[in-house]
Amino acid sequence: MLFGDCGYQFIPTPKGNNLLMFKGYTYSRDHKSLTFYCSKRMAGCKARIKLATNGNIVQADGDHYHERPHYVKTPSGIISKVPIHYIRSGYVDHVERFHIFQGQ
Ligand SMILES: [Zn+2]
Repeated sequence: MLFGDCGYQFIPTPKGNNLLMFKGYTYSRDHKSLTFYCSKRMAGCKARIKLATNGNIVQADGDHYHERPHYVKTPSGIISKVPIHYIRSGYVDHVERFHIFQGQ
């Protein structure tokens, strides 16, 4: 896993935008700054992360009011968002649950 020193990593998305994942939550970048807002910002989540130009997290504000998204890493290293019913059905039980990385 390509975790930064601060314990976050970037996840490439099909649209070409990088999501930042930190403690199991995903953030998308504000285009004008190095601030990353929770992916559920539009739904009212106030959590955000500010990076320094060297990549260190300088600020992490706000609490998430929602659960972590269900991202998984497949054996081939692809990280993707998986519908929860796939996980419950056992369809992706061979992949690593992303949550296990929280706290590192
Ligand atoms: Zn959030």
